[in-house]
Amino acid sequence: MFDSTHPFAFFDYFRVPYQVVPGEVPAGCGRLRVTGGDATFTWVVAGAVAPPVAQRGRYRLDGLPFFGSVVPDRVAKTWLHGTGWRPVHPITDHSGRQVASIWLDSDGSVFLPFDPGELMHRFWSEAHQDAGRSAQVRRALVRLYYAIRPVLPRPLQLALRRRFTTVQQKTTFPNWPVEPALHDLYDRMFDLVARFAGVPVPWLDLWPDGHDWALVLTHDVETADGCATLDLLRDIEREFGERSSWNFVPLRYHTDDRVLDGLRAEGCEIGVHGLLHDGRDLASLRMLNRRLPEMRRYAKRWGAVGFRSPATQRNWDWMPLLGFDYDTSYHDTAPYEPRPGGSCSYYPYFIQDTVELPITLPQDHTLFAILQHPDEKVWIDKAATVRARRGMVLVLTHPDYATDPRVAEGYRRLLKTVHGDTSAWRALPREVSAWWRERARSGVERVDDKWRVTGPAAGSGRVAFAQPPVS
Ligand SMILES: [Zn+2]
Repeated sequence: MFDSTHPFAFFDYFRVPYQVVPGEVPAGCGRLRVTGGDATFTWVVAGAVAPPVAQRGRYRLDGLPFFGSVVPDRVAKTWLHGTGWRPVHPITDHSGRQVASIWLDSDGSVFLPFDPGELMHRFWSEAHQDAGRSAQVRRALVRLYYAIRPVLPRPLQLALRRRFTTVQQKTTFPNWPVEPALHDLYDRMFDLVARFAGVPVPWLDLWPDGHDWALVLTHDVETADGCATLDLLRDIEREFGERSSWNFVPLRYHTDDRVLDGLRAEGCEIGVHGLLHDGRDLASLRMLNRRLPEMRRYAKRWGAVGFRSPATQRNWDWMPLLGFDYDTSYHDTAPYEPRPGGSCSYYPYFIQDTVELPITLPQDHTLFAILQHPDEKVWIDKAATVRARRGMVLVLTHPDYATDPRVAEGYRRLLKTVHGDTSAWRALPREVSAWWRERARSGVERVDDKWRVTGPAAGSGRVAFAQPPVS
């Protein structure tokens, strides 16, 4: 459908058909054409243009926040030849000053002063995180708290974390409980591309078999108590015929093989939740390497292909070293977690060769014990939001906290609201991960005048279309 001078990460992610063909392009830019067409869609390739030509920072595109490198209007004007160019979407810097624009030419050509692939990567890897002084102080406080936590009595731990929430509320990005920035960016990109193409642009739909969204239920078992009270949550799932994934900590308590066998027999999945649950697995590369063989040994013994890091400790470069098929330690938005942040993504994405499955509902402990919400309204509303964006509602609850009726009853009401919804793909995390890999190895091709899915997802994948905006 398109020819491009460079790989285009946005198309790769959504599996929009294009081929890379050499062509003339301004230095530091990549350029797309509709195959056989004249108009051009030019973007700035991340890393190819250095300061002062491109400035890295926090910006807003029509109000939509992002972090990345942007080529300012004063530079863009010297690049854009012809008289038909006009700035159509303003980009403002942190002080609200307009510094750059998306430009349109009278022939339909487009100039993007940034690389959408870089922006996506910065969201996913949380490289948008506030680098300002107040953010550094916040992070130092959180680190201090976790350093002294082991010697604090539990009630004092809780009281301190509740206190922290007032500090953490000052975080302006990502917003909680919903941060739509990344998905707004996807919509904006599809609008631009479809307007440029002038025809519906095909891509490989997100979920298999025509499902609109995905529902993924996961649990972390924190202690031996949690091990003994699995049924508080599992019974609710049985009521609704749901399956789920259970992450156990290898060396913190004894995990009875019969418990695991029982879960597997019901179609559930077993995952690894760190090694000791002391928040140290990813403290340094040395520590990780020291602990890894034992974690891998348990993964093998349990048949586990998934990892969830205790206290969602994470490191973009190290997660692939764990050697799991997927990781599920990132949130879409989590200002109140021990390790705050958020990838803003309701969809899976890759960290090198590891599939990342972001947690997209607030954790039970955070919602009820820390923020002291009286009920599950945030869960229900957020699930509706993610569903409306065709995302993955990935829930994390703990049997350890399920003696709190707000957790158990809230979970029951959440499952009740989605019960019987046939538009949902009810999947285990390992199934989502396997699908995401399959999808990444598949594409959309025109065969006999019809767009079809080709590759391993040919049987279950569907072609979706981005429609040109009406105007
Ligand atoms: Zn945990």
